[in-house]
Amino acid sequence: MNNTIKLSERLSTVAAYVTEGAFFADIGSDHAYLPCYVCLYDSKAHAIAGEVKEGPFKSALETVNKYDLSSRVQVRLGDGLQVLRQGEVNVLVIAGMGGSLITSILEEGKDRLQSVQRIIVQPNVNERNVREWFYKNNYTITSEEILEENGHIYEIIIADREAAKSPYKTDLLQEQLLFGPLLIEHKTEIFIKKWKNELSKRIRVIDEMKKAKEQNQDKISEFEKELSWVQEVLKDGNVNSKQ
Ligand code: SAM
Repeated sequence: MNNTIKLSERLSTVAAYVTEGAFFADIGSDHAYLPCYVCLYDSKAHAIAGEVKEGPFKSALETVNKYDLSSRVQVRLGDGLQVLRQGEVNVLVIAGMGGSLITSILEEGKDRLQSVQRIIVQPNVNERNVREWFYKNNYTITSEEILEENGHIYEIIIADREAAKSPYKTDLLQEQLLFGPLLIEHKTEIFIKKWKNELSKRIRVIDEMKKAKEQNQDKISEFEKELSWVQEVLKDGNVNSKQ
């Protein structure tokens, strides 16, 4: 049997942040490639693959059986963190969903998080929502990654419970929540590319809002404020060599 799994760069970057020997959960696991990959490379790791849909749940079971990992990867059908019992896992992964869905899964499952030291998320959009949730819930962002794969730009955010050093500066909190407190410190080419795209999108949205018959002035002002932050971030154009 072929005993290796080839993961996308996106998922292998997520996997790199799962601590050695972790008992971790991958919520919204789909085929359970991530937990199986980690457990194949780390003989001490154990995982729970959570899925809300029957089809992906069955695919996850198939992958676990294919790699003979049923003693270390449990597949559970259920919504969000409801598949977890208190104190079962110390690392949590939620990848490949929108930031709002990730945030609602975290918020609704808050009572299952007591033992979770590290949360690794890869929101497809609305990263800011998840950063806000971490900020309000005592998880400190300790690493952030940005990468491009198959024409998509992905951010991966790693947060640890009550880590000593906060990455935030009080006067820049809102900007840091939007751009990522660590990503903004190392503006890579991909980071610049993402925010150039966002700049064009935001200009278009503001134009549309201004053309509307009934204008929402508060919303326009909010968008214009954010647009000025994006322009500011792109202004100095300093690209960090760390890619
Ligand atoms: N995590 C994998 C990845 O990053 O490649 C799969 C991402 S896939 C796009 C999203 C998966 O999350 C789907 O299989 C979907 O069924 C599952 N999902 C969505 N909402 C969920 C929830 N509330 N609880 C558990 N799984 C959920």
